[in-house]
Amino acid sequence: MKKVLIAANWKMHKTVREAAKYIEVFLPLISGWDKTEIVICPPYTCLDYLSEALKESGIYLGAQNVFWEAQGAYTGEISTAMLIDINCRYVIIGHSERRHILGENDTIINRKLNAVSGSGLVPIFCVGETRSERENNQAKTVVEQQLEKGLAGVNVQDIVIAYEPIWAIGTGLTASPGNAQEMSGFIRSCLAGIIGGRADEIPILYGGSVTPKNIVSFVDQPDINGALVGGASLNPEDFAAIARLNENV
Ligand code: PEP
Repeated sequence: MKKVLIAANWKMHKTVREAAKYIEVFLPLISGWDKTEIVICPPYTCLDYLSEALKESGIYLGAQNVFWEAQGAYTGEISTAMLIDINCRYVIIGHSERRHILGENDTIINRKLNAVSGSGLVPIFCVGETRSERENNQAKTVVEQQLEKGLAGVNVQDIVIAYEPIWAIGTGLTASPGNAQEMSGFIRSCLAGIIGGRADEIPILYGGSVTPKNIVSFVDQPDINGALVGGASLNPEDFAAIARLNENV
């Protein structure tokens, strides 16, 4: 299995000036640290700045969204080639906020995953159940369907899956590590049904109110290979502590 992967999702936060202040604090805190792979997914408007600022740092750049067409009359959209051009390595696809606030459904998510597959970008494909789906014992069915529909026709090679129970995102609530492991193990078995033994090589991240205090309890689980971090990634000290797996903090 690859290194533990810790990805920041800044969502719609930070101007370029704020990103510059963040990087000034963050880089010294992770200087020399190579035990985790670190990714920062800022808003589109910070990508150009971060592409330069992170150049020699070993930190990867990611986008929070992408469109499925290569080019054309698609006002407001950004293509895979544009992201690659600006040194992005990763792109988040299927985040619950895009599903629930922006109305993205499995068909849209599948188009995006197909566009990204083979492009050189690595998708961080988010799946997860709502609170009521969990309470109704439907978490596994929902996640299985999201995987099947999202990955239909996709050449699943270089991909990261983020298990993000929606009720745990930005709420301060987390899945218990045991529960997150159970769902991640289930996700890996679904992936094995699609791509066989190579499923063992696919990083599965946990996302949902990860903090410096709880990160280790998640990455200690056998099927959890890292974290997608929202709120706590906005503070450079907190994100550095998470990226360093709470070591020396
Ligand atoms: C996210 O938005 O992907 C996320 C996990 O957010 P938070 O860490 O704030 O729950």
